[in-house]
Formats: sequence, structure tokens, C-alpha cells
Amino acid sequence: MSDQHHARAEQLIARERVEGISQAERDWLSTHLQACANCAAHAQETEQALRSLRTAAIPLPAGLASRTQFRVQLRLQEMREREPKRRALWAACAVSWVFGIASAPYVWRLFQWFGERTGVPKLVWQLGFGLWWTIPALFVLIVLLMERVRQGGEPDWMRQSK
Ligand SMILES: [Zn+2]
Repeated sequence: MSDQHHARAEQLIARERVEGISQAERDWLSTHLQACANCAAHAQETEQALRSLRTAAIPLPAGLASRTQFRVQLRLQEMREREPKRRALWAACAVSWVFGIASAPYVWRLFQWFGERTGVPKLVWQLGFGLWWTIPALFVLIVLLMERVRQGGEPDWMRQSK
């Protein structure tokens, strides 16, 4: 079989999909494809490529692009919202620590008074005073840990958008 035949077959395979071919051409092509394994494989590949293209094209107009865009916008908004929240968190921490330092003598006296009133051992109310001091630090630690965990869940968002 000459190269010309294969070239013609290749041309007909492409034209069949795009503009259509005549009955005579179709007959010639099917005869050639039965005799030529190479061209038959090429025809099959073309058919498969077109089919996958067609099936892949279905969800695309169904808003995949806009959905992805929506997610990106949502994410940007989330990041923008988180920034001031973090600043507010640090401000709250600073205030609580300053307040903690300023109120320490009074709190010490309060714990002392409470200890004397209830007869709780000195070590216990002193420990209570120490723990009271760590509460803001613990609070910050918990918030930061929660944020870390939430950030760890981000790949979920990435996976969903695919
Ligand atoms: Zn051929």
C-alpha cells in the first residue's frame, strides 16, 4: 500500500469529524481501515480523543470556571477577614497582660483573702494565683493552635475545587 493511501486515509479521518465525507470516501476509508492496522489505530485514537474531549467539555460550561473563581474570591475574603482578627487577638492579649500586671497586687491580695477565708493552704492559693496568670497565655495558645489546625485543613479546599 502506498504512502498516498495512508495520507488520504488520515485526511479522511480528520475530515469525517469536521466537515463530513461523501459516501464513496467513507466506503474507501472503511476498506482501507480494514486492510491497514496503522490507519485503523489512528482512526480509533482520533475517535477516543474526540470522545474524551466531548465528555470533558460537559462540566466546563456548567460553571467550573466561575465556581473556581468563586472559591478563590471566597478564600481571599477569608484571608482578608482573618488578618484584622489576628490583630485584634494580639491587641486583646496585650491589654490582658497589661491589665494582669496592673492588677497583680490586687489579685494577689484577693487570693490571699480567699485563702485565709476558706483555710486553703498557702501553696494552693499561690498556685491559683500563678494559674490565673497563665490563663491569657493559655487562651492565646489555644486560639493559635485552632488556627493552625484550620490551616491544616486547607488542602481539602484545594481538592474540592478540582
Ligand atoms: Zn493506512
